[in-house]
Amino acid sequence: MRVGIVGGGQLGQMLALAAIPLGHDVLVLSDDPGGPASHIAHAIFGKYGDEKILAEFTAKIDVATCEFEHVPQEALQFIETRSPLRPGLRSMAIASDRWLEKEHFRSLGIPTSLFQKVDSVAELKAAIKHLGLPILLKTRRFGYDGKGQRLVRNEKEIEAAFFALGGEPLIAEQFVAFERELSMIGVRTMGGAIFTYPMVQNLHHEGILFCTIAPAPEVPTHIELEVREALCTLLESLDHVGVLTLELFQTKEGWLANEIAPRVHNSGHFSIEGATISQFEAHIRAITGDPLSQPMLRGVSVMVNLIGAVPPREDILAIDGVHLHLYGKSPRPGRKLGHVTICGESWEELLPRLEKLIALVESTQQITALTPPPSQPPFGGEG
Ligand code: ATP
Ligand code: MG
Repeated sequence: MRVGIVGGGQLGQMLALAAIPLGHDVLVLSDDPGGPASHIAHAIFGKYGDEKILAEFTAKIDVATCEFEHVPQEALQFIETRSPLRPGLRSMAIASDRWLEKEHFRSLGIPTSLFQKVDSVAELKAAIKHLGLPILLKTRRFGYDGKGQRLVRNEKEIEAAFFALGGEPLIAEQFVAFERELSMIGVRTMGGAIFTYPMVQNLHHEGILFCTIAPAPEVPTHIELEVREALCTLLESLDHVGVLTLELFQTKEGWLANEIAPRVHNSGHFSIEGATISQFEAHIRAITGDPLSQPMLRGVSVMVNLIGAVPPREDILAIDGVHLHLYGKSPRPGRKLGHVTICGESWEELLPRLEKLIALVESTQQITALTPPPSQPPFGGEG
């Protein structure tokens, strides 16, 4: 088949790298001729809203999928009239708007922090009365890597936070004092079969995912089961085909859903080497109608993002059990330039390797504010 990928970033690149050995051709539609995906696949460049470009793209593909959820709605509608789009419009529309997403959680009985839609300073004040302080104010659309967010700690910060977000439609969310951040990836086939990966733990640095631990250690069984059930409910409610990621907070009382991504996700990169079927392969097999089976972990893995700078390649590659992925992007502060996955048969085997990697990354990225400190077992708790 000819798989069309909307978006030319590293997720598109890794989707293409999974599709090609399965016997597919890949055509990327990108607004950035320098993007990672177009280095390795055929590509068409242009604005996502340009109907001439979209017509050329859809004429050449058998199925379309998106590597990011912020593709303009009109472009998705156009694509859907000419080619199968998987996942479809409904998944894309709900997952690209934080308010619709949270309303959708609520309608399905999935626990989430209290929230309210905000379109004016007066509405923000009313939301604070209802939700209390602190709150996190977020743009409903186009946020990523923690961008488009302001924390409001007290009354004095209300107006500055509102105006800093540029008059966009907003959502106010109660600030969650979470114990840790987790995510779970699931995939649904065209026939409705669902497979999920085990829960993973995510550590962020300055709003950007820094590290994923797979599987997340010591997840209470009831939380793993409840989250899996919520993920299955979400996949079915959206008639979703392909991968869907659920990000959540573990709290003292249980867990709260944070957001969904209708696509492969940074917290699933470990699965390229750390699982029998990677999230990228699972997505391609689901959207092309190929058979799919349950992905299984191969031991334990930790994925570390290379943000803003890349340590010397040879130093990374000298570490046992290491897998390096560079995206071919020019360095810029806060930019994801690549990732490294370290695998092992056990945490005892993996941890010394991880310590070497973290030391290397720290020396180039000046990451200092990680909690828990990377020299400790990275997963807190008693273990
Ligand atoms: P990404 O695209 O990297 O997943 P994002 O920009 O889409 O991030 P969120 O995941 O909603 O946005 O928020 C980024 C981070 O901010 C979260 O991973 C979490 O650390 C923190 N955060 C978000 N919402 C809340 C909340 N209600 N309470 C406390 N912390 C929060
Ligand atoms: Mg997030």
